[in-house]
Amino acid sequence: MKPSLEWQIATVKAIKPENARVKTFTLALPHWSEHRPGQHYDVRLVAPDGYQAQRSYSIASEPERSGEIDLTVELLEDGEVSSYMHEVLTVGDQIEVRGPIGGYFVWEATMGGPLLLVAGGSGVAPLMSMLRHRAAAGSRIPARLLYSSRTPGHVIYADELERLQNAGDGLEIFHTFTRQAPEGWAGYARRIDNQMLSEVSAPLGKLALTYVCGPTLLVEAVANELVQIGMAPNLIRTERFGPTGDIV
Ligand SMILES: Cc1cc2nc3c(=O)[nH]c(=O)nc-3n(C[C@H](O)[C@H](O)[C@H](O)COP(=O)(O)OP(=O)(O)OC[C@H]3O[C@@H](n4cnc5c(N)ncnc54)[C@H](O)[C@@H]3O)c2cc1C
Repeated sequence: MKPSLEWQIATVKAIKPENARVKTFTLALPHWSEHRPGQHYDVRLVAPDGYQAQRSYSIASEPERSGEIDLTVELLEDGEVSSYMHEVLTVGDQIEVRGPIGGYFVWEATMGGPLLLVAGGSGVAPLMSMLRHRAAAGSRIPARLLYSSRTPGHVIYADELERLQNAGDGLEIFHTFTRQAPEGWAGYARRIDNQMLSEVSAPLGKLALTYVCGPTLLVEAVANELVQIGMAPNLIRTERFGPTGDIV
């Protein structure tokens, strides 16, 4: 086993509420190794009686930040690991993790572009790692993020996304709200569909490197729609967030 895939004990350095149901956990790692944006870590909880639960969480931070990673976790109703992290874990606590894991759903500035990112809910986490990396690397590769949220209150990283877009380095962000849009909203207010994907992707062309992440149903629907509108299927990469629920 590669050293990075051995379990290590991370220390919770900071916990940041992103919205009512999402928190970002900054973990300091004794054996940090540089990740590729899009990769994830496994988190393992072990009860005193030996019972274990293990889940995957995407790295939201950029690889340029050494020694620590951010994991952005959505609290799920009755969720075993997410509720432990939200309700029990505090700054200074220790938690078992291993990673970085995954070599398919990754993007680095050296891979070029243009870059089309499509997120649903907390699926924005690995795409945020890509965007933070893009900014840290000084890349001006044209990039567009289409981000579906229930309401504006559900948007994760709202301020930072706006700042990244305002940097004027070729990143454009499109929100769509599926339940409730802000007063006077002129943008998208429906589920992602062919027309929306066509409009957002058009300036990037059919050969954009495309990354789709979120709940399984959203990812499958969007991947099909991307193929229907003529995006190159071999350039579309997907990451499904769940449900997983595997007990080890
Ligand atoms: C590669 C990968 C990366 C991931 N990255 C992230 C991440 O960055 N942030 C994040 O919040 N999650 C992420 N997930 C999902 C995460 O691994 C867990 O599945 C999720 O946190 C639920 O675990 P739990 O123990 O809290 O809930 P469980 O106890 O497993 O499940 C509780 C209930 O929620 C349902 N459920 C489980 N997972 C989901 C889901 N994703 N959406 C809706 N319902 C679900 C179950 O069917 C069950 O009814 C990722 C998954 C994968 C495979």
